[in-house]
Amino acid sequence: MEKHVGFIGLGNMGAPMASRLIDAGYQLTVYDVRKACVDALVAKGASAAASPAAVASAVDTVLLSLPDPAIVRQVTLGADGVIAGTRVKTVLDLSTTGARAAQEIAAALSAKGIIGVDSPVSGGVTGAVKGTLAVMVACPQALFAELEPMLKHIGNVFFIGERPGMGQTMKLANNLLSATSMAATSEAIAFGVKAGLDPATMVDVINAGSGRTTASEAKFPKSILTRTFDFGFTTGLMYKDVKLCLEEAGAANVPMPVATAVRDQWRRTAESIGPEKDFTTIAQLVERDAGVEIKKR
Ligand code: NAD
Repeated sequence: MEKHVGFIGLGNMGAPMASRLIDAGYQLTVYDVRKACVDALVAKGASAAASPAAVASAVDTVLLSLPDPAIVRQVTLGADGVIAGTRVKTVLDLSTTGARAAQEIAAALSAKGIIGVDSPVSGGVTGAVKGTLAVMVACPQALFAELEPMLKHIGNVFFIGERPGMGQTMKLANNLLSATSMAATSEAIAFGVKAGLDPATMVDVINAGSGRTTASEAKFPKSILTRTFDFGFTTGLMYKDVKLCLEEAGAANVPMPVATAVRDQWRRTAESIGPEKDFTTIAQLVERDAGVEIKKR
């Protein structure tokens, strides 16, 4: 595989992943609708392209890190999309889109001889910066062997299976747990604070006990107890992930009553706090409902 790849979507996750590839010696051709994001990568040595099609005419492998399935569909299959590129052979999607979108996009790309790889990631902005993401790849095994050396620069690479969408199923299962632990930990801490407990002590105890999750280990100490609400993922995207998980589970006849309650709580957060707000603000919704503030004493 040549060491020149395309990268489309340079947001919270895309920018640090693209930077790591540059640091590892890859030449990057990049595109994003936000000029400031492109300029930041160009300053690190990337070349800017005028459209997704232009990226896909410059390289044989294009990576995507975009918000949702509709945008991934538009960027890959729409007018001036990656599919119109003259050189592209592989489109590797790092976004969270759900298995059905991944399958549909892979089928449309394959009609043009392009392989669609789903490779969603987990581990947040910190993982993207440090190169410690969990990378969940679904693609033909031979292609996996070619892609793995590059993907190792962004994290721990897992081969999930050959069928398009398998990586997405893995990712949605993971994010359901992440979404659930944030929602439930917010409720548990608000419950204690209302009864007079110190939230920082609660977090320490939970982290030494059986309630420990990434919410208590990372998100509460960094962004909620400090009141910075700046972990690096939006409420709108978390709501999208749980909603996608339920849609896929519904299509597969897997009842998910817990996920249904979790989805409703994320919908309320996105609607009442704002879809662009950091996802740690789910604690603010719970605080509002409970009439308490989760603040370090
Ligand atoms: P983000 O909104 O910060 O970044 C998305 C980028 O895509 C933005 O820079 C935006 O300008 C760009 N974009 C939007 N429409 C575009 C278009 N039509 N053409 C080109 N660029 C376009 O989102 P993010 O947090 O970086 O997440 C990206 C994906 O990764 C999402 O699918 C998300 O669910 C997933 N994800 C995020 C995290 C996280 O912690 N932030 C972790 C794992 C997975």
